Amino acid sequence: MRMKRIEISGFKSFADRTEFELGEGLTAVVGPNGSGKSNLAEAVKWVLGEQSARLLRGTRMDDVIFCGTAKRKGVGLAEVTLVFDNSDQRLPIDLSEVAITRRVYRSGDAEYFINRKACRLKDIAELFLDTGIGKESYSFVGQGRIEEILSADPRNRRVIFEEAIGISRYKLRKKETEARLGDTAGNLRRIQDIAWELETQLEPLAGEAERAKHYLQLTDTRDSCERELLLYEVGPR
Ligand code: ATP
Repeated sequence: MRMKRIEISGFKSFADRTEFELGEGLTAVVGPNGSGKSNLAEAVKWVLGEQSARLLRGTRMDDVIFCGTAKRKGVGLAEVTLVFDNSDQRLPIDLSEVAITRRVYRSGDAEYFINRKACRLKDIAELFLDTGIGKESYSFVGQGRIEEILSADPRNRRVIFEEAIGISRYKLRKKETEARLGDTAGNLRRIQDIAWELETQLEPLAGEAERAKHYLQLTDTRDSCERELLLYEVGPR
């Protein structure tokens, strides 16, 4: 899957709205130290859901917002959009281009969009499952990462291969389903407890119901006796 375009506005050193068209084939970003190459890579990671301010070389998430320079005031929000070519429908969206956007305000409020429609971060993560694209996936290989992959313990290395062969989506669903099953089992246990509690009340209640029935029968008999007595007393002498 090819990323066609990156649109950045107010993110780190990109104060003005900037668009990067990524052509077919190799795209390299070159520039002197401090010109913003890493900021660009971080912008991509950020849209894909990076939640750690530290990994974005900041202390708080709003540190990604352009904070101003000696000559220029800071801005109020940062926004980055990644546009992917989806002509092969690799992403389950019936459009030839898919744009995902993340926005953060100085207040800390965050927003995510898929094709300009508000969504949750989870929706973006799910959209890219098994595509190799994601904040942790193998589409980003940073400095020192190859070494890290080669020397990782088998369990961590397995995660990378699972993403590559496309089973992460199913593993995630399995985990979610297991969590839901766990919740349902908990609910069932609570219902069983309530049913048991109600059953213990059933026997005394049945006795009380029997007594109430008997009382009604007796009241009925008493009423009809009283009626007959009254008739007898006022009847012809
Ligand atoms: P190097 O090759 O040294 O790693 P680089 O080209 O990757 O450099 P970056 O580290 O991406 O450059 O950019 C650093 C520049 O971005 C610094 O000048 C820094 O002041 C600026 N910068 C980072 N965050 C912000 C921000 N929130 N507001 C304004 N400028 C910022």
